[in-house]
Amino acid sequence: MHNIPHRTFHALILLSSLFIGISCTDGIGTPPPATTAPTTLAPSAIIPENAKGKILVFSKTVGFRHDSIISGQKMLQDIAHEQQWAVEFTENHHLFKSSKLAEFDAIVWLLTTGDVLEKPQQKAFRTYIETGGGYLGIHSASDTESDWSWYGQLVGAYFSSHPELQTANIVVENNQHPTTRHLQATWRHYDEWYNFDNNPRAKVNVLLSVDENSYDTGLKTAPVDHPITWYHDMGKGRAFYTALGHTSEAYQNNANFRQQIKSALTWVGRLEESP
Ligand SMILES: [Zn+2]
Repeated sequence: MHNIPHRTFHALILLSSLFIGISCTDGIGTPPPATTAPTTLAPSAIIPENAKGKILVFSKTVGFRHDSIISGQKMLQDIAHEQQWAVEFTENHHLFKSSKLAEFDAIVWLLTTGDVLEKPQQKAFRTYIETGGGYLGIHSASDTESDWSWYGQLVGAYFSSHPELQTANIVVENNQHPTTRHLQATWRHYDEWYNFDNNPRAKVNVLLSVDENSYDTGLKTAPVDHPITWYHDMGKGRAFYTALGHTSEAYQNNANFRQQIKSALTWVGRLEESP
């Protein structure tokens, strides 16, 4: 949060008439030093007419709310600015209507939890995806809409449990996809390692799995196949899910994660990625 002048962040947020959700009272209110240049994120950067893409970041929570949402929003804002994409942040499920969703190349479900959509919005979102839209689910996006079987197919698997936060080895199973080309064969990472209600491997394309021998799973069962990041097509649309992203630090200073999210947005949204 602190590498961007606070007032500039506000100016960007105010441009989004549909924005309702970001709290600016959770420790990000420290004024920047007087010498900080205020122009790194000019408001004009997100004027949709000039943008090379447009993404919606949805972070409504009905259940658990991650403190890292604000850091996730900030990272996505930085990526969007860098890539010259327009971005809107919302926690308003009423935005999920076909005419509005059609504006976006990709929709990020950032740390959502619980039953966030009602039936009309579910219908609009399903139509959006199946007619070619892009979905990027991050971390507790899999702890969302657990009673909506279509969403379960979209995200790939539902969250079931997790052990204590700890470092583990991520195995890069496929480094030929745009979202994994930047990664070494093994990625040491600190996060909350989600277990799922089923193994999605047969239904999706697994990119990353976690080495069950590299951390304390807290489970009494023997090590199992444990995918944590994957992608697949859904109708004419594209879906990408990563279980990573519990901590604020993941969004603030983890180059591997940031690059993966940027490339995932590019891929699901069929956008062009600037270097
Ligand atoms: Zn979490």
